[in-house]
Amino acid sequence: MSKREILVPERQKQPRKQIAATSQMKKLMASHFLEIDEAQRTGQKKVAWCTSVGPAELLHAMGFLVYFPENHGALLGATRMATDLIPLANAVGYSPDICSYLTADVGAYLGGVTPLTKAYGIQKVPKADVLVYNTNQCRDVQDWFSFYAREWNVPIVGIHTHRNIQEVNDYHITDLVAQIKGMIPTLELVSGIKFDIDKLREVVDLSLQCTSLWKQVLQCGAAIPAPLTFFDATIHMGPAVVLRGKPEAVDYYKTLLAELNDRIEKKEGAVPLERHRLYWDGMPVWGKLRELSDQFYGMQTNVVASTYCNSWIFDAFDPTHPLESMARAYTELFIVRDESYKEWYMDQWIKTFGIDGVIFHDAKTCPNNSNNRYSMPQRMAVRLGLPTLVIHGDLNDLRCYSEEQTRTNIEAFVEQLDQKPA
Ligand code: SF4
Repeated sequence: MSKREILVPERQKQPRKQIAATSQMKKLMASHFLEIDEAQRTGQKKVAWCTSVGPAELLHAMGFLVYFPENHGALLGATRMATDLIPLANAVGYSPDICSYLTADVGAYLGGVTPLTKAYGIQKVPKADVLVYNTNQCRDVQDWFSFYAREWNVPIVGIHTHRNIQEVNDYHITDLVAQIKGMIPTLELVSGIKFDIDKLREVVDLSLQCTSLWKQVLQCGAAIPAPLTFFDATIHMGPAVVLRGKPEAVDYYKTLLAELNDRIEKKEGAVPLERHRLYWDGMPVWGKLRELSDQFYGMQTNVVASTYCNSWIFDAFDPTHPLESMARAYTELFIVRDESYKEWYMDQWIKTFGIDGVIFHDAKTCPNNSNNRYSMPQRMAVRLGLPTLVIHGDLNDLRCYSEEQTRTNIEAFVEQLDQKPA
């Protein structure tokens, strides 16, 4: 019998308790896609594509239905369709080294398939009437949307955010507000609806409520034992990504938060007999969420916090200054900041959450969300005295991921934690 089998008590082999709010979340996500599909077929409303941390509030305020292709990219990964579709995009010149959301999504378009068909009976992704990006996360989103702008001959507009910044300064905000305002005439032309600042205030207020609740959901992970895992959060963040600015997202997170608080009160951990608490930096491996989640569960180890799920915390939203606060919220993001800020930020979460070790996912096709490449794990190990592990993989392209190697590395890492004095 191996050391691992000795450490795993009988209770750990029991089936896990599911989060009850999941069924409500699934219904919400289904109605999001079905509403856009219906509107597209009937021509009732215009559809804007938006990047995941793009100016969704402005688009809602101007009457668009808002579709997020990164969410589609993640679905392609989670359903494991991505790896077979990426070569179709490679064949038309999109490199296997660039964002595998982009290549999987373009591959799916070229192949005429979508996971929305099996999930919701939707035959194809909605055609955009306008494409709206923000380069705060990476340049790939601009190139990705440009593919569709050429394909459909529709307008594309975007915001070019300053990158690798330590502090967000007033000159950043002034510039970004001007860029947001610069998009409005095109959006008015496409939607046929005049920009109304009061409508924007209402949407920003709803986004603020949504993001505040989402932050509280993630902060539940600080409880010992934690009532949710990183893997749960990657699923439950769906409404914060695609429905922020809408009342149903606010209602949903109230329900989820109540359930998690109840679990905290009853000391019901998502991982029973939780022994170790980890931080995950970088993208999820969408096609291997279940396997990774099961492995940690079996080792009584919970991944309780992550930078990825925190990407939809926008503290700066302020309905009294909607444009300025949107500019600030979408610039204060972790991914926009320099290494010194990122390290400071992670240190806060690591200390608050009682973290024992940090896993860095080096995602081959997303350098923007891979923070191990400039010696951060080594500096962190010295600064915080914490063990760190780098796993090599990808968000979507499973050809870049060795399941066996990762499994062995995680096992060895947890054994290292076992040997640390309490
Ligand atoms: S941040 Fe990474 S995963 Fe997201 S769109 Fe950009 S390259 Fe792709």
